[in-house]
Amino acid sequence: MNDRTRDKDYFSGRVLITGGAGFIGSHLCERLLERGNEVLCVDNFFTGRRNNIGHLLQHPRFELMRHDVTFPLYVEVDQIYNLACPASPVHYQFDPVQTTKTSVVGAINMLGLAKRLKVPVLQASTSEVYGDPSQHPQTEAYWGNVNPIGPRSCYDEGKRCAETLFFDYRRQHQLDIKVIRIFNTYGPRMHPSDGRVVSNFIVQALKGEDITLYGNGEQTRSFCYVDDLVAGMIAMMDTSSEVTGPINLGNPSEFTMRELAQMVKELTGSKSRLVHLPLPQDDPKQRRPDTSQASDTLGWRPTVPLNEGLGRTIAYFDDLLKVA
Ligand code: NAD
Ligand code: UDP
Repeated sequence: MNDRTRDKDYFSGRVLITGGAGFIGSHLCERLLERGNEVLCVDNFFTGRRNNIGHLLQHPRFELMRHDVTFPLYVEVDQIYNLACPASPVHYQFDPVQTTKTSVVGAINMLGLAKRLKVPVLQASTSEVYGDPSQHPQTEAYWGNVNPIGPRSCYDEGKRCAETLFFDYRRQHQLDIKVIRIFNTYGPRMHPSDGRVVSNFIVQALKGEDITLYGNGEQTRSFCYVDDLVAGMIAMMDTSSEVTGPINLGNPSEFTMRELAQMVKELTGSKSRLVHLPLPQDDPKQRRPDTSQASDTLGWRPTVPLNEGLGRTIAYFDDLLKVA
């Protein structure tokens, strides 16, 4: 794992990752340890799991702290990645007040920490800031179409307010901020029952249960494999302080949910039936990132096609279900 020579410009400092025990956070912890960083993983385990980072606990440069980001945090680090926030609609709607607090108060606490330490801070924002978009594909210049009072608003508006805070800290305190807007990301370590479409379909297919298409299944999403996303996050953090974003990170290949279900059925060889359930309120009809800024500014583009990433994710869930 000692690959300090791989990247001669690597940054070797101490990195704080909030939400580090979650799906994306655990992959980011792993990648930064491989690169030679010290990693401080902070998580309250609301949706994250010890298993996600169990293999890192003995690593000499890894430290785990149970902490809720809605409370102030006093640590010494050189960079901050702020990922703490449930991301699945089922989980962020479970305690919507806490979801907004995590995004807004959590952002204030992490920005305050970054200000005291004078270090860069990256915000894991989301394509949900575009709501149910009337512009397609979505560029960073689009202001979005978000319902401020619906069941998704705790997440969407919480993340929008966090973006506002990041840019106000930049204007008011000249903070080195980085805002990325993450589009639907999938891969190993998604929670098997977190309700997101990729994990739902794979688990249903592997168990031979009905595959639940919400609505007519014609709504679209663009799915990014987690390794690609993490590479983009690190590339963004490594930019100079003039680069603030927001920058879309996602895979621009767009699929309907029906196409996704068919692909999962074929890759698993499952006999599961497709069944229709009601479409959740305010479910966006289409979503695809315009990634030209990410490729121009970061030289980043996703490399893992959906069928390949799904294959790796299916293998992960297959093992998980055998153990369970
Ligand atoms: P996840 O639910 O697996 O991870 C979120 C982590 O944050 C969990 O470990 C959870 O326990 C932790 N957490 C939640 N509230 C906290 C709090 N108050 N204090 C400390 N820790 C807390 O979700 P994920 O998919 O890994 O998402 C990570 C980040 O990326 C989130 O901020 C999410 O909004 C953003 N994002 C994800 C996607 C995606 O498709 N996965 C898309 C857009 C944005
Ligand atoms: N979806 C579905 N069946 C499921 C879970 C989700 O058809 O079992 C649909 C959902 O309605 C949405 C899309 O899949 O249109 C993506 O849902 P997810 O919750 O994964 O993410 P988000 O809506 O936040 O993009």
